[in-house]
Amino acid sequence: MYDRPVVFLDLETTGATATYDRITEVGLIEANNGEFVREWSTLVNPGISIPPMIQSLTGISNEMVASAPSFEEIARELWLALEGRVLVAHNARFDYGFLKNEFRRLGKSFSAPVLCTVKLSRKLFPQFQRHNLDSLMSRHDIRCDARHRALGDARVLWHLAQAWREAPGEAAVIEATAKLLKTATVPTGLPDDTYTHIPEGPGVYLFYGLSEDNKDIPLYVGKSVNLRTRVMSHFSGDHRVHKDMRIAAEVKRIDWIETAGELGALIEEARLVKKLSPIHNRQLRRNTELCAWHWPGQRHDTAPQLISARELSGVEFRDLYGLFRSRRAAIEALREIAAEHQLCNAILGLEKRSAGTRGGACFAYQIKRCRGACTGAETTEAHALRLAAALTGLRVKAWPFPGRIGVRETSADGERCELHVLDQWCHLGTIKSEEELQALDDGSPRPLFDLDTYKILTRYFYNGKGRPDVVPLPAVTAS
Ligand SMILES: [Zn+2]
Repeated sequence: MYDRPVVFLDLETTGATATYDRITEVGLIEANNGEFVREWSTLVNPGISIPPMIQSLTGISNEMVASAPSFEEIARELWLALEGRVLVAHNARFDYGFLKNEFRRLGKSFSAPVLCTVKLSRKLFPQFQRHNLDSLMSRHDIRCDARHRALGDARVLWHLAQAWREAPGEAAVIEATAKLLKTATVPTGLPDDTYTHIPEGPGVYLFYGLSEDNKDIPLYVGKSVNLRTRVMSHFSGDHRVHKDMRIAAEVKRIDWIETAGELGALIEEARLVKKLSPIHNRQLRRNTELCAWHWPGQRHDTAPQLISARELSGVEFRDLYGLFRSRRAAIEALREIAAEHQLCNAILGLEKRSAGTRGGACFAYQIKRCRGACTGAETTEAHALRLAAALTGLRVKAWPFPGRIGVRETSADGERCELHVLDQWCHLGTIKSEEELQALDDGSPRPLFDLDTYKILTRYFYNGKGRPDVVPLPAVTAS
């Protein structure tokens, strides 16, 4: 409370149900590190009528709010007052719930660290039974001339904070607050105000250590739809894992890249992990060996051929099976499928056919593990059909669009818009508008097929929560 920006807040409402009732008054006091900054209060026109009982409790009548601004009209100012601060309120869940619902009605997602003064009082003074506001006022000798009005009650919370400063004292309150907030402690190598600078939107964050000759050492790259919360979760008591403890000890600098949405963050994360090879990221293997089985038309007189990522351009994805990190993994997978389905290793090219043995029978046939496509006991057509069925699960997903597309993402505040240009599971680039498309075409050569991008995109298109905003794009014009 005395070691960070907070806002003491109280709301008056038309009732107790946050999803139905509305706010009629907001009162708040901003404070930084225990210093009073300013107080602010406004009546709010709730757009619904205030029940008589509530009118007599608060003294706020329908007439009083009739000419008051709506929540929408004060939303921006209120948001700015709350942003970056711990929300301190009495029975904070109530006020927090109302704020979340009012902002949600405007299409905004409000979230803040919340400190409840009921819980805090209980922690500081466990010997007392009652912790409602009137009890606390008499216990700490606090007077209020506008009880049940928003600013009046917010001021009580401010005075409470001053009283607690004397007893039990700042240190005890800060400790209890940290426990209630499960606060992320700032790693020792970072400035105290580190978290307040990190945006709350989607993007990629980077932790750097420092080498002896003062060079950045990439420690970890991660992505999130809320950068600040995610970064803090690495350093909060209840998520402590060994990796995070090591990062906390080593980190000297945090950097981030904001994106408009989740897809942009996923793509950027994969790119940076490859580029920087951070110490604590599970290493994504490079694509140099990436390969797949290629079997066009599932023809019975041909066998699947192993081709590498470099040879993928121009190949139909529906003729591809697998996508493997190495040739060895690809061969291993096909061997397992052959064994499981009693297919013929000789036909598949996994085993040399020795002319000397009986009718070119493969080894598996001799121990009755092959149905005999090698000897003619099974026709090659039947073998091909069984092979096609066995490979179904490995089939690479065809690109589900007629050609090149853009996926548009817009940030929640509408200020950031990105168009991810995609074709055949490749990420060709991210641009701010369609006008930049030509520059993209004229620029870098087409990227190689990348397994991580393929996985990100298939997950995004087939298992994603939202419906992607897909924009068809013209084919590349040769210049
Ligand atoms: Zn065989």
